[in-house]
Amino acid sequence: MSFLPPHVSFPDEPALQACPACASAAARRVYAVRGIPTHSCVLLDDQEAARSFHAGDLALAHCPDCGFLFNDAFDPRLLDYSEDYEETQGCSATFSAWLEGVIDRLVERTDLAGGTLVEVGCGRGDFLAQTCRSASCAGVGIDPSATAGRVDHAAGRGLRFLHERYGASHADLHADVLACRHTLEHLAPVAEVAALFHGGLEEHGGHLFVEVPDTRRILEEGAFWDLYYEHCSYFSAGSLGRLFKRSGFALDALEVEYGGQYLQLTAHPGVGGAAPLDDLAHLAAAVKRFTETCRATLARWHGVLEEARSANQTLVLWGSGSKATGFLTTLGAQDTVRAVVDINPAKHGHFVAGTGHRIVAPGSLTELQPDRVVIMNPVYRDEIQADLDRLGGSAQVDAV
Ligand SMILES: [Zn+2]
Repeated sequence: MSFLPPHVSFPDEPALQACPACASAAARRVYAVRGIPTHSCVLLDDQEAARSFHAGDLALAHCPDCGFLFNDAFDPRLLDYSEDYEETQGCSATFSAWLEGVIDRLVERTDLAGGTLVEVGCGRGDFLAQTCRSASCAGVGIDPSATAGRVDHAAGRGLRFLHERYGASHADLHADVLACRHTLEHLAPVAEVAALFHGGLEEHGGHLFVEVPDTRRILEEGAFWDLYYEHCSYFSAGSLGRLFKRSGFALDALEVEYGGQYLQLTAHPGVGGAAPLDDLAHLAAAVKRFTETCRATLARWHGVLEEARSANQTLVLWGSGSKATGFLTTLGAQDTVRAVVDINPAKHGHFVAGTGHRIVAPGSLTELQPDRVVIMNPVYRDEIQADLDRLGGSAQVDAV
């Protein structure tokens, strides 16, 4: 079965701009989605406002020279990170256990104990607080979001929060570790940001820790729900390593984590270190195949939703993050999905940007009695299945 929503296409044309990572002029547009919500984690308490949320276009371009992918139609003016922004995953036991291991390794590798951790794009500050507790260090969180700092400020040797964007003046903070998790993919001028990080660490001699999604998996799985407006920059292990190497860093480690979903880079200003992974040919092949893999996943999920619709079944999504927004808006599947479930109480009673779906607590499922549950992140499958079993019912469970 073939299915392509009218606002989705696979162009094969030159990108309008040079590659933001390596400045090459050879990048080409390979995938496009028109009219998607610009924010996917903003908390909206009005259904109409959620449905009419500002829209932008995604035109994914691939640079054959460094492997970087980016939204060639991205307009940063459409994003406002000072709004109420909820992205914490701390409610999940699976996530917390994994993060604890990440922190232990980071502290050991960088000798952070007793020092200063500066986190760029810290969100609420959960990672900052947990790491400072674990390493008895001082923490500075930098994030323009209004939600930044809603954690225990007494963690470790104390936390403080700067509600602003990271800049050259923050080099004065003398970071022993400069962490930037799930933030770089939201920034378009990635080479400028890497240079800024280098400037921030060069004098004092600290380490950089970066975590971003792994685009290679997205391409290989045809995971269209992982391509959305807020993410304008898409890295592979190779392109991430190449960017920071080119920006004057020596690579300490580059790992694929969390069920193949995340890349983690540890580096320090200097020469030498590990060589970036040579994945250019593999990436180019994955980009080429994406036209088919993405069409196949679109057709598969369109089929699942159509089946539920024609059988008059109640279908809900589990997980209200960006993946749910990407899934719903790319498929154009607004009507078939009854509600979106999330375990984060801060999200309950709010609505998904762009589609207006109500976000409900797992407990609501005893009332909704879904026939089918679609899990937006397979990493949580066991945890969600256990919750569903506790709530009773016999929904058929699928995961993207
Ligand atoms: Zn490039």
